[in-house]
Amino acid sequence: MKTQILPISEESLSLARRLILAGELVAFHTETVYGLGADARNDEAVAKVFRVKGRPSDNPLIAHVHSEYGLSSLIDGEPPYARALRERFLPGPLTMVYPSDGKVSRLVSCGLPTLAVRVPSSPAAQAFLRAVDLPIVAPSANLSKHVSPVSAQHVYDDFAGKIPLILDGGASSGGIESTVLDCTGAVPQILRAGLVTREMIAQVAGDCGVYVPKTGEKPKSPGMAYKHYSPRCRTAYCETLDEAMARYREEEQSGGVPWLLCAHGDIPRGVRALDLGDTPETMASRLYDLLRRGETLATLLIAIDPKLRGGVMDGVMNRLTRACRGY
Ligand code: AMP
Ligand code: MG
Repeated sequence: MKTQILPISEESLSLARRLILAGELVAFHTETVYGLGADARNDEAVAKVFRVKGRPSDNPLIAHVHSEYGLSSLIDGEPPYARALRERFLPGPLTMVYPSDGKVSRLVSCGLPTLAVRVPSSPAAQAFLRAVDLPIVAPSANLSKHVSPVSAQHVYDDFAGKIPLILDGGASSGGIESTVLDCTGAVPQILRAGLVTREMIAQVAGDCGVYVPKTGEKPKSPGMAYKHYSPRCRTAYCETLDEAMARYREEEQSGGVPWLLCAHGDIPRGVRALDLGDTPETMASRLYDLLRRGETLATLLIAIDPKLRGGVMDGVMNRLTRACRGY
């Protein structure tokens, strides 16, 4: 199969619509990362998403719709705080998990009595979702476990020859996946940290919990239990610059090519380093591109703890530590 990368146009949107209706997969830009889209109502198309990505069959998918779609047709009611959150944050990088039964293919939620719904804000995503006018399941458009894609080229690198179309909307500037929020209880609960932070949610909803699975418990957001975001090179995670430089020299002495991945202010002179920037938002927007660059350049990619915490850093630290430390 030939994989086309096309900019958004009337022709490419009409092709995307034909492909989706025929049960094919179309990758598209969102403000967080690129998504691998399929018709959420079509069992075979949804099964193809799991197969092509190599995604574990118990890791549910998020259904994406455009802003005028009428999200309430996909869910079985919502608490008042969820409505307030929708009005404040959608369209945007917030995924909301609602009670829902039988509105889309049963494969989407992997047997859970809920559905995760998202309304992306990127104009390219909105154009695609309007053109198809259907709920579209769209996990991140990377092979399972690999680093999430923030450009059409990243998607191509993972899926060339395996999907027919990538709609190119430029770089995904948000850079990390949406916040996943459980809206089935009395208080909203964050299942995956992202760009919409706990503080922002609590301000609108009055309160916001953060889900931490108890040992031995089946996690509420199964995706968080898997190995994730892994670059295809060896990685290390260091608390301090001194520790990182010791690993760096050791790797050079054994003939390897080490690179640091660290905050702007931590970069020493005269070493190979990938610059995460110096604000949480910059770190979020650069992280996946740098992990993908790192895997092509380095034999050992050494991340240094950027020391910032809270807000958007909850999401950044979650991805950075899982990518480079493994948990
Ligand atoms: P991805 O699409 O690769 O960004 O991953 C989607 C994330 O949303 C994973 O962590 C899933 O486990 C989570 N998710 C999707 N649907 C549900 C659901 N119904 N309940 C809880 N978590 C969900
Ligand atoms: Mg993913």
